[in-house]
Amino acid sequence: LIVLEKVNKHFGSLHVLRDIDLSIARGEVVVVIGPSGSGKSTLCRAINRLEPIDDGVIRFDDRPLPAEGKALAKLRSEVGMVFQSFNLFAHKTILENVMLGPLKVRKEKSSEVRSRANALLDRVGIANQADKYPAQLSGGQQQRAAIARALAMQPKAMLFDEPTSALDPEMVGEVLDVMTSLARDGMTMVVVTHEMGFARHAANRVVFMADGQLVEEAEPDEFFARPRSDRAKDFLSKIL
Ligand code: ATP
Ligand code: MG
Repeated sequence: LIVLEKVNKHFGSLHVLRDIDLSIARGEVVVVIGPSGSGKSTLCRAINRLEPIDDGVIRFDDRPLPAEGKALAKLRSEVGMVFQSFNLFAHKTILENVMLGPLKVRKEKSSEVRSRANALLDRVGIANQADKYPAQLSGGQQQRAAIARALAMQPKAMLFDEPTSALDPEMVGEVLDVMTSLARDGMTMVVVTHEMGFARHAANRVVFMADGQLVEEAEPDEFFARPRSDRAKDFLSKIL
């Protein structure tokens, strides 16, 4: 579904993505880990073209990423993204936040959007918060609302960039549970996270990045038991 070939990206003189080759199949869950500054967020953002790349190709659903216009808007709706900060609209209710994309971007019928939004809020366990404003919810509830909002566009893939890093520890589990259930239901997912439990239990593959390079990729059990590169060994020794 997602293919990167020899992808390169610079910020000025900083070479942040170096010859990245990565292929993600439909239904696959890939966890991306690596030290701070290794390019994980940039990789994620490149996949829905929040960051243009300098060199190489990224294909989504067999087509090169569009650069602009309607095709780019379509891509963004097909590739949902969830960030560390929830980015909900403060002056809209949770239900309105979830309904906004399908109504404004897709011009879908309001009654259908509403029933789908309610079903999604139920799915992420916050149906009873629908009419509240973001500030009235806990961080974990807000992040689950952000996931529901992305799902409302019926994406073909979901990108998560450290979705639990800003949460109090007791709220991490409820967000990971929602993500695990999405993974089990067959959603194609790219997840940047430091939650190694999630990587072990929900990922099909772990990708380890350092200094803009994709250093190593393996199934989680294999990666955690027998990391091959010194950099991965060093990284794991610091976080496990
Ligand atoms: P972290 O774990 O801290 O989130 P990361 O692996 O996600 O790190 P990126 O955010 O992709 O790393 O950043 C990779 C490098 O690119 C870093 O050195 C960062 O400072 C730099 N960088 C990121 N975004 C920009 C930007 N818009 N302009 C200039 N440099 C940037
Ligand atoms: Mg990052």
